[in-house]
Amino acid sequence: MRYIESKEQSAELLRLTLPLMVRQTAAYHPISYTIWYEHVAGINPPLSSALAARLETNEPLSDDEAYRLYARHVSERDAAVLDHLQQRLQDLLDDTARTINSAGEDSGHFTRTLRESRSDLEQEATTAKIQQVISRLLSEALRMETMTQILAEKLDGSTREVRALTEQLQRAQTEAVIDPLCGIHNRRGFLREAKALLESSAGLEGSAIVLADVDHFKQVNDTYGHLLGDKVLRSVGGIFRESVKEVGVAARVGGEEFALLLPSTTLQAARSLAEQIRAAVARGRIQREKNKEDIGSITVSLGVAVGAAGETLDMLMFRADRALYSAKRAGRNQVCVEAPSA
Ligand code: GH3
Ligand code: MG
Ligand code: MG
Repeated sequence: MRYIESKEQSAELLRLTLPLMVRQTAAYHPISYTIWYEHVAGINPPLSSALAARLETNEPLSDDEAYRLYARHVSERDAAVLDHLQQRLQDLLDDTARTINSAGEDSGHFTRTLRESRSDLEQEATTAKIQQVISRLLSEALRMETMTQILAEKLDGSTREVRALTEQLQRAQTEAVIDPLCGIHNRRGFLREAKALLESSAGLEGSAIVLADVDHFKQVNDTYGHLLGDKVLRSVGGIFRESVKEVGVAARVGGEEFALLLPSTTLQAARSLAEQIRAAVARGRIQREKNKEDIGSITVSLGVAVGAAGETLDMLMFRADRALYSAKRAGRNQVCVEAPSA
């Protein structure tokens, strides 16, 4: 979704949003700003009614609730827009096909008239008959000319609309599957890629999933603020993106959770890639924007699992998540692998 408010209008919305955000416990991060912004701008009625119902309780909105409202009313709305656009494109193509069919019927009718006229003239070529045939042909030709003109205009209109819709669809498709913060796939994009792999002849057997979660990330936000937190997530996302390049898909599947989908990858190879990512993240330094002062580092925990024959995506995700949980329990900043399921 694209915001169309001007700089002045958005400044006014910012002024209205701040007092509302101040009353909540959720931090001033882009997720909570988005929900309040869309609310005061009046551009997301379902979100506004959910917020209104929630605020009646007089309890301030927590971080988790802000994330949930965002997922339900912002991310999912973008997905619904995508479905709607796809449907409109389909209807338009059906309509065009119908128009072309009816034009085909008309030209068939014209051809029949021509044939009939010829056989009429073969039987009787009197001046009166010739005049009658000419006037019939003339009126049919005029009708065809009008029809062709209407058809050309209609097709021209449809072509323009298809082009505009295709552009919107491409934009919506990208927005619906890409995480704007890190520029890698989001959860929806990741699941779509994984389902496509599952449905391909290769299936999920012999493909690896790596799930990762940033360690003690809440502390990063609490200590350095959400803006710096976002910057950290962006660079962790960059490490995931670079780690797969053309060999798989990297995604940010939750707030501080990342995932890799690695087609045709052994458990050893996936573990070694996960280990490289772990080490790269641990090596990175968090620096203050202004003076580049070194203020610490972060770590990630990773879980790895490889698909077995006949395994569903849910099962494989569950096993990768279980491995991630083991890595957390074993002290974080490490990689755990799931033994292949029997
Ligand atoms: P653990 O090692 O157990 O994973 O600890 P944790 O602190 O990382 O885990 P927890 O799930 O308690 O906290 C995750 C935090 O991530 C909470 C939330 O504020 C923060 N977070 C989620 N999404 C974002 C985001 O987009 N930006 C920022 N800055 N913070 C986010
Ligand atoms: Mg987490
Ligand atoms: Mg975490």
